Formats: sequence, structure tokens, C-alpha cells
Amino acid sequence: MNRSTIRFVIGLSVMLLIGLVSTQIYWVRNAYQLQESQINYDITKALKRVAQQILLANSDSTQLYDPIEQVTPNLFKVRIRETIQPYYLETLLANEFKKEEINLLFEYHLYDCFNDSVVFKKLVQLDQQNNKFESKTPEMNWDNDAHYFSVFFPNKKSKLLEQFDFWIISSVILLFIVLFFGYTIWIILKQRRLSEVKTDFINNMTHELKTPISTISLSAKVLLKPDIIDNPERLKNYASIINLENERLHQQVEKVLQIATLEKEKVDLVKEQINVHELIDQAVNTIQLIIKEKGGGVTSDLAAKNATINADRVHISNVLSNLLDNANKYTPGNPLITISTKNEKKGILISIEDNGIGIPKKALKIIFDKFYRVPKGDVHDVKGFGIGLHYVKVMIDYHKGKIEIKSELNQGTTINIYLPF
Ligand code: ATP
Ligand code: MG
Repeated sequence: MNRSTIRFVIGLSVMLLIGLVSTQIYWVRNAYQLQESQINYDITKALKRVAQQILLANSDSTQLYDPIEQVTPNLFKVRIRETIQPYYLETLLANEFKKEEINLLFEYHLYDCFNDSVVFKKLVQLDQQNNKFESKTPEMNWDNDAHYFSVFFPNKKSKLLEQFDFWIISSVILLFIVLFFGYTIWIILKQRRLSEVKTDFINNMTHELKTPISTISLSAKVLLKPDIIDNPERLKNYASIINLENERLHQQVEKVLQIATLEKEKVDLVKEQINVHELIDQAVNTIQLIIKEKGGGVTSDLAAKNATINADRVHISNVLSNLLDNANKYTPGNPLITISTKNEKKGILISIEDNGIGIPKKALKIIFDKFYRVPKGDVHDVKGFGIGLHYVKVMIDYHKGKIEIKSELNQGTTINIYLPF
């Protein structure tokens, strides 16, 4: 799939999802509002009838014009001017609410119309089993005259939401679909990036291999000339060029092998008793020449008394050469590298310290990611594939060891590796 098709598919799907989610929100809101206005209508109807019955009981023939006022979503005031007995009112309310099937907890308040103060209040709940209302508060003394009343429903909203099971479940399912979709997109983009990086890698690697091959071929042609025998100095020169380029080729091939190792699901380690100090000496010897050429040096301080561990010789040596290679590559001036060891409780600690460019704090978190290289704008004067540290981390994990990087920009980097015996 090419870039624009992917973009089109993702854009379209996002739009569809947004449409779906908005429709869901719209319907849920609508359904809730409908439910709420239905219950408000039922309550108002019941209260109106209660008011009329009170009027009737007081032989008042006034025509009630809209006596119910919904003060807040949960509070309904009934504006009449009559003498009201609380228990009579409670019976009326209970009856009318039952008729309208309003099973809500409610509190009724009785007011004195001269000073608008509450003279009586009581919390009442419908008992679902025998369909009776029962009082939830202790009796309150009642000695003042009461003239109008209000009814408060403390848990009206939560009761309404209880009837929303279907909507809640469907919204949760929708949420899962959206999350799953996001996850799929993320995977697709990640795979795409990875495949781009891989293509880059193959192009780079081919280029890197071509250079030593053509140099070797040129030098060999010179060596094949018959008169080269008469010029031993030149002969030696070209032979050493071939040797050096061959070494470079060897390193490149090693890198490809390291990547191939990482591509495997599981790496089979060939474990044996190995002496870490021996491997360090070998790795230092290989890189020493290049570092000396740059005017630097490697100091070894191998203090560990016990340097024998059970590990894979090839992989541990690759780990060491990768780290020494980085210490050298990322030190522009004269690399001064120190490699030291010491024993810990159940293993050995290897430290590699350099005085190079250091690694920015932000990059430290992702430094072990496959193909990650610290960005250097457009120009990368130091060649690499971003494989080395990833390989190192994977191998240390396979050996149940630990790796830690400390770095200060423009000061240097220290890498500590712990490997168990
Ligand atoms: P290669 O796969 O050839 O090793 P690389 O050296 O670029 O390529 P890594 O060894 O994985 O890849 O290192 C990743 C990045 O971490 C490097 O590109 C570099 O920016 C940074 N880095 C690694 N070691 C050091 C170091 N000692 N000092 C400063 N930066 C370092
Ligand atoms: Mg490297």
C-alpha cells in the first residue's frame, strides 16, 4: 500500500468513527432527556392531583392554574394556600406516586406561607416488595400551621441512569471498538516505519559493502601487474590496504549477522565457561590500532578476581566490540577509553567509559530501540545503523544481566554491564 492510500483509508475510517461516536452521544443524550421529561411530566401530573385533592378536602373551589413549579431538576414546589396535615399529604403523595409508578425516594417539605420557613419534613421510600411507602427519618414535631409544600427527589438522576444499562453497555462496546481501531492504526504505522527503516538499512549496507570491495579489487589489480615484484614498498602498501578493507568487510558482515540474530524469535546461546578478561583483551587489541591513529588510547583496569562466567563467547565478544566501537566512533577528538571490571556478589561488573559527545537525556530512554540513532540534523558524519546497542541489550537480557548508561553531553558516556556467573 502506498503512502497516500494509507492516509486515505485512515482518514476515512477516522471520519466514520467520529460519525459513529457522535451519533451514539446524540442518541444517548436524546434518550436520557426523553426519559427525564417523561418522569418530570409524571411527577407534575401526580402533584397536581394531590393539590386538587387538598383543595377539595378544604372545600376550596379555586381553580388551580399551574401550581407546580420545578425549582431544580430534583425539587418540585406546589404553590397552594391551604392548611395541610403532613400525614394526609403523605398518604396522597404515596397514592398518586404509586399510580404513576414513580418509585423514587422522596422528601416532602411543608412551609409556613407567612415566613416561608419549613415547618415539617420527612424522607419516604417505596418498599419494592410490598409496594408500600415507608418513612426513612425519625418523626418530627409538628406544631405550626403549614400552607404549601415541596417534594425533593434526592436520587432521581441515579435512578434514571439505572435504566440506561443498554446504552452504557453499547457505549462501552463502542469505546472498545474505537480503542481497538486506534491500536490497529498504531501497529500499521509502526510496521510501515519499520519497513522504511529496513529498506534504508539495505541501501546503506549495500553501499558500505561496495566501497571495500572496489578498493580491494583495485589493489588486487595493481598487485597482479608483473613489475610489482621490483617495488616491494608498493607491494606491501597495497597488501595492507587489502588487509584493512578486508577487516572492514568482516565488520560489516558481522553486523548483518547480528541483525539476522535479532530477527530470530529466540536466540540459542552456546554457553560455556569463558574468561571475560580474555575477551576484553581481544576486543581492545582489535580496536587499539584505530584509536591510536586518532591520538587516543584504551586503558584496561581489570580488577575482578573472578572473571569466569557461563556465557556465549561469540555474543559477549560482539557486545564488547560494539561498545568499544561506539566509544571510539562517538568521540571526535582523541578517544580516551577506560574499560574496567570488578566483582559483584553473584557476577561481574564491566564498565566502559569514554570522553565523547555524550547522549542527550531525552535519547537515553529509547537508546536501545532497534534502528534508533541520536538525530544529528541532516548530516551524520559518523556511520552506523542503530543496531549495536539494541543487539547489546538483547544479548545482556538473554544472559540475565543488566545494562545501565550514564551520560553527560559533551563530557562522555559510561556503560555499566552486569553479568551473572
Ligand atoms: P551500529 O549499528 O553500527 O552500531 P550505531 O553506532 O549508530 O550503529 P548504536 O550502537 O545502537 O548504533 O548506537 C545508537 C546511537 O546511540 C548512536 O547512533 C549514537 O547516537 C548513540 N551512542 C551510542 N554509544 C554512544 C557513546 N558512547 N557516546 C555517544 N553516543 C553514543
Ligand atoms: Mg554502534
